[in-house]
Amino acid sequence: MSGSSPRQLSIVTFIDALGWEVLKGRSFMEEELTYRQPLRSVFGFSSACVPSILTGLQPRDHKHWSFFYKAGAERPFHHLRWFKLLPSSIFDKGRVRSKLSKYLAKWFGYTGYFQLYNIPFKHIDKFDYCEKRDLFKAGGMNSGANIFERLETAGVPYSVSNWRESESANLEHLESDIKQGDIKFAFLYMADMDSLLHMVGKNSKKVDEKLSWYEPRMQQLLATARENYDEVRLFVCSDHGMATVTKHVDIMSKIEELPYKFGGDYLATYDSTMARFWFNNPESEAAIRKTLEACPEGKILSKEELVSLGCDFEGDQYGEMIYLLDAGTIILPSHMGTKPITGMHGYHPDHHDSDASLLSNVPPPGNPTCITDVFNIMTTEAGA
Ligand SMILES: [Zn+2]
Repeated sequence: MSGSSPRQLSIVTFIDALGWEVLKGRSFMEEELTYRQPLRSVFGFSSACVPSILTGLQPRDHKHWSFFYKAGAERPFHHLRWFKLLPSSIFDKGRVRSKLSKYLAKWFGYTGYFQLYNIPFKHIDKFDYCEKRDLFKAGGMNSGANIFERLETAGVPYSVSNWRESESANLEHLESDIKQGDIKFAFLYMADMDSLLHMVGKNSKKVDEKLSWYEPRMQQLLATARENYDEVRLFVCSDHGMATVTKHVDIMSKIEELPYKFGGDYLATYDSTMARFWFNNPESEAAIRKTLEACPEGKILSKEELVSLGCDFEGDQYGEMIYLLDAGTIILPSHMGTKPITGMHGYHPDHHDSDASLLSNVPPPGNPTCITDVFNIMTTEAGA
């Protein structure tokens, strides 16, 4: 330890999908993290929630939401439509598409998380993609400044995980930065809880096992930090929770049975919990609206509701009509996947399974209620 003023380190640990309802009835760092509360999530998937945490903004303002949206004049995936000629028995497999996505990200020069998912190649030229840049770097947002820009402008030395690396590698990286003793703020990114919850659901014993994996590692991090700093302020937060999937609905077939042409009359993306549409004529719009209104598993979101959710986008970028399913139901097959899963998120933020969590060893600054308030916690902690 050096210097005359007390040295302080603030660590924000992000655990993807560590929802308030996921934590309920489970034990996780109660002794250390005595301040515990739910946070309201933002409507959308992690591709919307993480940008809201990193900027404090609603999706309409940072302009990140679901990955794919209708392409404008610039069609970045124009040439990819020829991939439709490849044998779908091979090129529609998840693992092959993941590899291909990595290769294409390099080719396009994208530094963000890029995944083709299950978007059909014959239509991919009609879409654009919202996460072309690394969210965890200064300048990574489509609009607005993220925490890393704020830290750099304020000249605050910080550590941030590399989302491409494993949780263990990110823990090791932070531990070594803490030992150096130069940083004042750290953002630790942990992604594995999300994939586990999708696979096994929130009621599985495997979730308890995963928490028991995190706990000693977080304790170790705290111990190392306390050897090198006078005060260590630890926050654990998430972006959303996880609902248990009990029902599938094939919205895609219902729409494709109508006498309207995908790409001609209308365009659609089928995310796991919502279907989003753009229309080229009022007939297809009326017919699709009627079909969706007859599906009891969800509802079309009104413009007013989208405004209140912070998801009213300029030029209806992410869809002119958005049909959202009730929590626990997924669209299957969808453009996200063809296999059933046990857990899903991306439902209405009013549903209790959507709630995120905030845990800390000090009172969190600013009376946070929503995940967007984590940004204020970070800037206050870092003095940025
Ligand atoms: Zn997820």
